[in-house]
Amino acid sequence: TQIMSRGLPKQKPIDGVKQVIVVASGKGGVGKSTTAVNLALALSANDSSKAVGLLDVDVYGPSIPKMMNLKGDPELSQSNLMRPLLNYGIACMSMGFLVEETAPIVWRGLMVMSAIEKLLRQKIRDFISSSERNLYKSDKVIFIIHILQRAVIVSTPQDIALMDARKGAEMFRKVHVPVLGLVQNMSVFQCPKCKHKTHIFGADGARRLARTLDLDILGDIPLHLNIREASDTGQPIVFSQPESDEVSYISKYVF
Ligand code: ADP
Repeated sequence: TQIMSRGLPKQKPIDGVKQVIVVASGKGGVGKSTTAVNLALALSANDSSKAVGLLDVDVYGPSIPKMMNLKGDPELSQSNLMRPLLNYGIACMSMGFLVEETAPIVWRGLMVMSAIEKLLRQKIRDFISSSERNLYKSDKVIFIIHILQRAVIVSTPQDIALMDARKGAEMFRKVHVPVLGLVQNMSVFQCPKCKHKTHIFGADGARRLARTLDLDILGDIPLHLNIREASDTGQPIVFSQPESDEVSYISKYVF
């Protein structure tokens, strides 16, 4: 809000990047990282002429390194540029590469801005010096407005998630970032034994929100053990089980 009230920063191009798609939610735990990882893999599989990268700017719990089975620190070039780590053909940058997995870090809004700016432009010289860690008060801030081109919003069908998704959609409208649509995640769980379907978080909340906001539904992904296990083992489902039903729910809407 601090930054919003100062007016919108000007969009700056990122060297070598043609398109930016932001995967946003509002609420944590609704499947943003899972969607981002699988979307990146699906886009890359769909068109091998395109290089796809993934930038994880989750500062509080970056999970992309684990989901993409990436370990170790990125190498630095002589000019102190950080080289993204690569797996499954996707170049990844993550706050998780730069901070200890177990270190508690409290970020201040402007520090988040500068950290993301450096990640984007890969200049690491003065990145998060140890003296900066733990110094700052937490401050919720919308931090990536100036790099956005288009956005995808992920939500479960649950009211509490939808409320935040709606705020996200409205924020994007305010800053003139087109929203490509909504992905409804975890909408149904089918018992693998008796095949009974349960709508644990509600059936079609995101669909209703999409209608209200005049947005498209880009995907409707069930709650499924394979998706969770694939993410946890660093073998994202679009890569490891491309023929599965779960993937058809993701890719049917992407292409
Ligand atoms: P966020 O990035 O929004 O915080 P995540 O993508 O990390 O959410 O998802 C939260 C947890 O839910 C993760 O453990 C992930 O593996 C799991 N998950 C996400 N989507 C599904 C799904 N459709 N089915 C099963 N588990 C899922």
